[in-house]
Amino acid sequence: MNAFELYNPTKLVFGAGKVQQLGQLVKPYGTRILLVYGGGSIKRSGLYDEVMAQLQTIGATVHELSGIEPNPRLSTVNKGIAICREAKIEFVLAVGGGSVLDAAKAIAAGALYEGDVWDFTVQKAVIQAALPIGTVLTLAATGSEMNGNAVISDWDNKLKRGLGSKLVYPKFSILDPKLTFTVPQDQTVNGIVDIMSHVFEQYFTHTQDIPLQSRFAESVLLTVIDNGEKALANGSDYEARANLLLAGTYALNGTLPIGIVSDWATHGIEHEVSAIYDIAHGAGLAIIFPNWMKHVYKEGVERFVQFATRVWGIDPTGKTDDEIALAGIEATRAYFTRIGAPATLGELGIGGDQLDRMAEEAVRFGPIGSFKKLNKDDVKAILQSSL
Ligand code: NAP
Ligand code: FE
Repeated sequence: MNAFELYNPTKLVFGAGKVQQLGQLVKPYGTRILLVYGGGSIKRSGLYDEVMAQLQTIGATVHELSGIEPNPRLSTVNKGIAICREAKIEFVLAVGGGSVLDAAKAIAAGALYEGDVWDFTVQKAVIQAALPIGTVLTLAATGSEMNGNAVISDWDNKLKRGLGSKLVYPKFSILDPKLTFTVPQDQTVNGIVDIMSHVFEQYFTHTQDIPLQSRFAESVLLTVIDNGEKALANGSDYEARANLLLAGTYALNGTLPIGIVSDWATHGIEHEVSAIYDIAHGAGLAIIFPNWMKHVYKEGVERFVQFATRVWGIDPTGKTDDEIALAGIEATRAYFTRIGAPATLGELGIGGDQLDRMAEEAVRFGPIGSFKKLNKDDVKAILQSSL
């Protein structure tokens, strides 16, 4: 196990009806609030009214930025930054899915930076300050509710990049499983795949002697696999939605990668696809991840054997290690297909004409991943097998 530091300052407030605490949670940070939300799901569900009522209890002045896109755009983030400066915003409140939360983080950091917020995504600048943010999460997927990462897209240049800082961890995140009852089937599927993918990125590692980290990761996977299917069968199954929501948070709140080297190549590759084609992040991951697994498993077959046997219950009797590993990869693909995720880019109408560009962008800052370091040809081969 490697040395590590673990730091997570986000206060999680979890359970039915917890939005009733919102006013008190916001109060210490000020009364000039920027409320950030998406395309209208929070208005249809009634959550918007509840949030506004809570903010009224503390006498807040609320400015709004609505219409955050899935795959939030730099242009929209810039609108939020302008509001923050003009209205001297003290606190950014994100109400929605990962895209809304990510946009809020970029706004919070950009508001206190003189230059272009995009600088943070291309290592041109490091976040030195950010407005405090809080979140009310409505979709189990990204883990953004309890981490310091955000992903934004420069739509004009077809680029999707991440920024990260300890300064943009939410001060608090309210997670009410009931708020996720209205998440449609396809977004529930995307969320399940994203959560599992976050675990994969931190599970397939060469770091040795990590029994606790391994079983943490396997436990998150088993919880998602089981409760994901239950939530799809009955969207109002409180316990299934609650377990999915908590698994999503734990998959990416810094708990899993302690003392290990993580990978993250597949997220990098997926971002290049969604940067150009604007597909759902989870859909892209469902297509690419099993192909990444096939491309890299020989680099550490014993890890894939453990995955196959412990997560998918593959019976190893009479099989070679390669056969067991491949059976685990096939089981992953079969699960994604069973829950309704796509298996090929072709299903989303994506052909091979941009493969070179995507592969090149993916390795713009050098080889990606760690389980196997991928160069442009590796990325291209993985994308080719995803067509
Ligand atoms: P999302 O893009 O935030 O939301 C997808 C859709 O679901 C939106 O149309 C949204 O509608 C709808 N929705 C959300 N909650 C709903 C509810 N309760 N009922 C009905 N509809 C609902 O999805 P996401 O998967 O959470 O976020 C994806 C983004 O996060 C991608 O850009 C991805 O790259 C990024 N990401 C970030 C991290 C991180 O650590 N920060 C990690 C992985 C991925 P409305 O717009 O109308 O609300
Ligand atoms: Fe993700």
